Amino acid sequence: MSSDNADHSSAVEFETFASHRAMVGAIEVRRALPQRSHRTIGAWCFADHMGPASVTEERGLDIGPHPHTGLATLTWLIEGEAVHRDSLGSEQLIRPGQLNLMSAGYGVAHAEEPTGAYRGTLEGIQLWIAQPEHTRHGARAFEHHGELPHLMIGTSEATVLVGEMLGEASPVRHDTALLGLDLDLRGVAELPLDPTFEYGVIVLRGAVSVGGSLVEPGTLAYFAPGADEWRLETRDPARVIVLGGEPWLEGITMWWNFVARNRDELTAAYFAWVERDERYGTVASPLAAIDAPVPFWLHSERAPL
Ligand code: MN
Repeated sequence: MSSDNADHSSAVEFETFASHRAMVGAIEVRRALPQRSHRTIGAWCFADHMGPASVTEERGLDIGPHPHTGLATLTWLIEGEAVHRDSLGSEQLIRPGQLNLMSAGYGVAHAEEPTGAYRGTLEGIQLWIAQPEHTRHGARAFEHHGELPHLMIGTSEATVLVGEMLGEASPVRHDTALLGLDLDLRGVAELPLDPTFEYGVIVLRGAVSVGGSLVEPGTLAYFAPGADEWRLETRDPARVIVLGGEPWLEGITMWWNFVARNRDELTAAYFAWVERDERYGTVASPLAAIDAPVPFWLHSERAPL
């Protein structure tokens, strides 16, 4: 076999997708996932780059109690503070460098609140991880990690959010093979890859060159399985989230805050929230609970409650 193409980076092929702008609480987000043609990257099924936004003690990331099913939410801040509260009774302040992971299983409810004390810039990413069949009907759970493994990749510092990189393994729960990496990119980083994984790159700050193409905030770069290394390069410091995983084969249906396999499951999840059923539990939040929109497929069948 010819080895004249030793520079893998020049052969890297990827697609880019524009993120969609949306409001979450009082914060503008860039929604990198889902994309119409790439609904998932491994089990990663939702990615909101939040901010940077100015928040006050009482206003900012304020999202009242709402339900989830079939997914885990992962919150990672690079600036600012927020409070997580859920129907397990968890109340957790989160700061940069710390990670919150809430697994919904069959059902959970949570709220995201201002801290009552922090004023300044808020920026971070909220990710959803689809749960596989063997955990998606299971118990709700919450974990907070005050510290995660760090490593140097060349001159860049990486934090392993989920999974493993160069022998450093994150303690964060994952139900399928997955990678989540925060990279404080300085200069050039040669990133070793699992060729069985597909990958996505979300640039939070700065501009990153991948195989000669520039990726900036507001763009998702998607890489199909097959590569064993990429070369990421930046002139000025950049902050990058790398998501990877084995392509998701179970099928997935998402609507509002629910991840399921078919519309009947979504309908059941919807009515359980409308009826404030035990399925999600209750959240002791000062914020008002969020009402679900009526699913479009029910409009013609039955009147909203
Ligand atoms: Mn949520």
